[in-house]
Amino acid sequence: MPKLNENYLNLKESYLFSEIAHRVNEYSNANPDKKIIRLGIGDVTRPLGAKVIEELHNGVDALASAETFKGYGPEQGYGFLRDAVVSYYKENGVSIEPEEVFVSDGAKSDTGNITDLFAKDNVILIPDPVYPVYVDTNIMNGRNITYMNANAENHFLPMPDKNIHADIIYICSPNNPTGAAYNHEQLKEWVDYALENNALILYDSAYECFITDETLPRSIFAIEGAKNCAIEFCSLSKTAGFTGTRCGYTIIPKALKFDAANGEQMSLNAMWNRRQTTKFNGVSYIVQKGAAAVFSKEGMAECKENIKYYQENAKIIAKELESKNIRYFGGVNSPYIWFECPNGMDSWEFFDYLLNNAQVVGTPGAGFGENGKNFFRLTSFGNRENTIEAMERIDKLL
Ligand SMILES: *Cc1c(COP(=O)(O)O)cnc(C)c1O
Repeated sequence: MPKLNENYLNLKESYLFSEIAHRVNEYSNANPDKKIIRLGIGDVTRPLGAKVIEELHNGVDALASAETFKGYGPEQGYGFLRDAVVSYYKENGVSIEPEEVFVSDGAKSDTGNITDLFAKDNVILIPDPVYPVYVDTNIMNGRNITYMNANAENHFLPMPDKNIHADIIYICSPNNPTGAAYNHEQLKEWVDYALENNALILYDSAYECFITDETLPRSIFAIEGAKNCAIEFCSLSKTAGFTGTRCGYTIIPKALKFDAANGEQMSLNAMWNRRQTTKFNGVSYIVQKGAAAVFSKEGMAECKENIKYYQENAKIIAKELESKNIRYFGGVNSPYIWFECPNGMDSWEFFDYLLNNAQVVGTPGAGFGENGKNFFRLTSFGNRENTIEAMERIDKLL
C-alpha cells in the first residue's frame, strides 16, 4: 500500500468557490426568472489586446514551417521574453538581470512550487486574510504557519513584530482580497526586518499594474536591500488578461544566498533553476510570443486601457459604498473592494442577503481567513453595465 502524504488531511476543504456556486445554483433554480450579477470571482472579462493577439498568431505561424518551428524551449523562458521583463522593470526604475527572470505558466504555480526549496522546520509568516495558495501549499508540505493579523486597525497592512523571529514571510501587495497596498516606508520596514532576521520575503506582486498612486512601489526590488532577502512573483493574468492564456514570471536575485548546515552557501536562483529544469519544460512558444507583446509599447497601452476600464468599475463600486457610509478598503490601487458587512452581518449571512434580495454575488471574506469573517469582497472585473446595475440594486437594498 502506498503511504500517502497525510498532510492533505490537514487541509481545510476548499469550499469557498464551490459553496458559492452551490448557493447560487440553488437560488437560480428556485428563481429562474431572476438575473444574477456576479462580482465574486477574481477573473477578468476583457479580451486580450490586438497586439497580443497578433503575436499569438505569429507564434502559431512560426510552428507551421520547418525553418521557424520550435520544439522544447529553454525551461526558464525564451531570451526575448526574459529581456522584455527586464526592460519593463527598468521602466519602473528597477534593475534586474535576464538570468534572474524565470518564466512560468503563472504565479499560482510558482508561489506554490517555491515551497520545494525549503525545509520543513521554518517559521513561516502568512497574513490573514490572504490568497489561499500560500497557506495550503505549506500545509501540503507539513509546515506550521504563524498568522499575522490583517484587520481594519492596521488597514489590512500588518507590520513586522520585532519580538517574533521569522524565516519566511509571505507578502501580497496590492493585496488579494483586501486591496490594501504597502507604501515604500512600510515595505522598507519589512525588508529591514527580513535582513535582521536573515529571513526571506516571498512577494506576490500580481496586482502591481493596478497601482495608481505613483508614490507606491510596484516591485519589492524598489526597496534598498530587497535583493538580499526577497523573491518576487508576478503574472500577466491581471496585467494583461492572461488568466486563461497562462503566463507569469518570478524574479530570483542572484544575490540571494543562505548558508547550508554544512557551511556551504546555497543560491536560491541556482536551486530554482535546478528545480525548474528538472520538473518543468517551459511555457509554450506561442504564449511567450503573446506575453512579450504585452511589454511592447502598443501592447502595454492596450493593457492599460483594460485596466482603466476595471478601475472605473472600482470607482463605481466605491462611490456606492461611500454613499451608504460603509467602510471599505482597496479599490484605488487594486481591482478589489473589501468592506465591512453592514448591520453586523457575518460574511456568509451578507452573501445570502445580497443574493436573495439583490441577486448580486460577491465573495465572503471568511473564505480568505479568520479576519475576513465580517468582510466582503467585490471585484471590478465585471463588465460596466453589470457593475452599474449591481450598484443600483445595492443602493435600493441597503
Ligand atoms: C490572480 C492571482 C495571481 C495570479 O495567478 P496566475 O496563476 O498567474 O493566474 C497570483 N497571486 C494572487 C494573489 C492572485 O490573486
